[in-house]
Amino acid sequence: MDTSPRHRHLPDLPVFEPGSVWLVGSGPGDPGLLTLLAHHALGEADVVVYDALVDDSILALAAPEAELIYAGKRGGKPSPKQPDISSRLVALARTGKRILRLKGGDPFVFGRGGEEALALVAAGIPFRVVPGITAGIGGLAYAGIPATHRDANHAVTFITGHMAGGDMPDGIDWKSLAAGGQALVIYMALKHLEAITGQLMGGGLVPETPVAVVSRAATRHQKVLETTLGRAARDVVESGIEAPAIVAVGEIVRLRAGLDWLGAMEGRQLDSDPLGQSLQRDTA
Ligand code: SAH
Repeated sequence: MDTSPRHRHLPDLPVFEPGSVWLVGSGPGDPGLLTLLAHHALGEADVVVYDALVDDSILALAAPEAELIYAGKRGGKPSPKQPDISSRLVALARTGKRILRLKGGDPFVFGRGGEEALALVAAGIPFRVVPGITAGIGGLAYAGIPATHRDANHAVTFITGHMAGGDMPDGIDWKSLAAGGQALVIYMALKHLEAITGQLMGGGLVPETPVAVVSRAATRHQKVLETTLGRAARDVVESGIEAPAIVAVGEIVRLRAGLDWLGAMEGRQLDSDPLGQSLQRDTA
């Protein structure tokens, strides 16, 4: 008999109705970061349509009889065109199965979840959205970098470093982002990193501004490169650090010296004053 109190008191979770689509975020990688709803959906779904960013350890939680359909880019092959995925979701739902559309991070953060959901609306397919932990918050936390810290920033901006076609997004005012002096969290930044860091320095951020590149965050392959705006593009090439990676820019990066909890588990000595504030106060 299981007398463990741990598995009691789970809330009643909604029924995954046949013929509906659940648009679910799987978080940055660690299966422990799935929501209860995401875990529930994995157990109930008849079909799981997943992206490249969904970790294998998460797919392993799908019911053994579930059909797994890959809908992302892998091995340099072009990704299926977005309307194809949306119409496929509609067609699958019309077969009367429970369709789980599983995405890395949060489906509504640079994840095209909105586009797919609108296609379901247009087709009259019932759906539910299950938010996930986005890489720009949870992934950074696994590197010991808080999205905000009141001594470091009062705002954080999420930015995409490239568009569907691979170009740098137009319409981003890098100068005002630089002038704001607040933390920046850049998704899909590696490809255009030299241009992005150049724009930010052109906008007035000093080359010494701290930068962290967190690759495959919250997976067992996580790597973190600590660098500066001036050196980031070169250091990324020299280190060979790979996508998917999230790039953090600003004072929040310095907090890693104190908050790298994963590193601490492996013996890293943490600094309880990573922003050097007691020193500043002493000398003020
Ligand atoms: N919806 C996702 C983002 C999709 S865009 C989310 O909310 O996290 C894809 C980009 O997300 C990648 O290029 C990378 O910048 C970032 N990303 C996603 N998962 C990541 C991970 N585990 N580690 C680092 N970056 C990640």
